[in-house]
Amino acid sequence: MPFSSIFGHGEVIHKLEEAFRRDHLPTAYLFRGPQGVGKGVVAKALAQMLNCRSHNNCGHCPSCRLLLRGEHPDFHLLCPQGKFIKISQIQELIAQLSLKPSLATKRVVLLKHADKMNAESANAFLKILEEPPLDTLLILTAVEESLMLETLLSRCQKISFAPLGQQEIDAILQKDFHLAEDCRALVLRYSQGCLRREFIAKGGRLLSLRSQALHMLLNLHATEMEGHFKQLEGVVSQNLFSYFLEFLAQLLKDLLSLQLGFSERIVNRDLLQVLREQAERWPAELLEQAFLKVIATEINLLAFAAKGLGLEALIVDLKMRLGSGG
Ligand SMILES: [Zn+2]
Repeated sequence: MPFSSIFGHGEVIHKLEEAFRRDHLPTAYLFRGPQGVGKGVVAKALAQMLNCRSHNNCGHCPSCRLLLRGEHPDFHLLCPQGKFIKISQIQELIAQLSLKPSLATKRVVLLKHADKMNAESANAFLKILEEPPLDTLLILTAVEESLMLETLLSRCQKISFAPLGQQEIDAILQKDFHLAEDCRALVLRYSQGCLRREFIAKGGRLLSLRSQALHMLLNLHATEMEGHFKQLEGVVSQNLFSYFLEFLAQLLKDLLSLQLGFSERIVNRDLLQVLREQAERWPAELLEQAFLKVIATEINLLAFAAKGLGLEALIVDLKMRLGSGG
């Protein structure tokens, strides 16, 4: 992909192009920034530029074609296998780097999620950084730099990726994803400055899931809880509980913002009318407590196997807090 087709990150791209033009590329870059912001896309475009016959990511020369097909013998991509990048992956890389590049003028290693190396892998990778192979650029990407070894960080030139703007995300959504308009609007509102691929993959189900969360919230006063529990079973069986909780938390936050007079902070803007009508049902203090309870449940459920029970307990708790409202 040419740099010109990448949405956002103009400054970063300029810096990389300048480093190449002045022949000032370091041994290793660390691209740091939120998940889904485009670090990998920029890294691949850089690898393409370094090896493109005309250095403009032409898309037609042999190097560009191999890279675009994911078959370039001198472009090495490493991602975590399971929770971590394994020592065996790094050992295999070391073996590959001991050979000369087959075609490339600049061989590129892209190590994604470098913050997911365990101590063993990180120490093995450190050896590559200490004695870097010739004509090789190492690009590491990470979200949580604090999880990485200081000795490793100090050998990388750091490049920070800022969150994307709404317009940039919308442009990517329109170009690369086929979403219905109402779904695209929802994804955009919940984007948090990044392209949330797993969230986007849920597509149309997101809208009905948010409706479910809203319906549950507004009907906590119902004495009958069976209906709510039945819906929660569906949420868990489709593995949607974390998004359900996210919607629940955001709806509560929006209600709280309306209560406090900060209507410009509302994320669920398409529900503004309903939310305005409902916001007065509960005092701000109760809404805040309920919001914090949802957030705590979200964190606890990540480590808790019985998600269904956790969600049921949350709804019972919310019913006690908010069920008498209205
Ligand atoms: Zn090319």
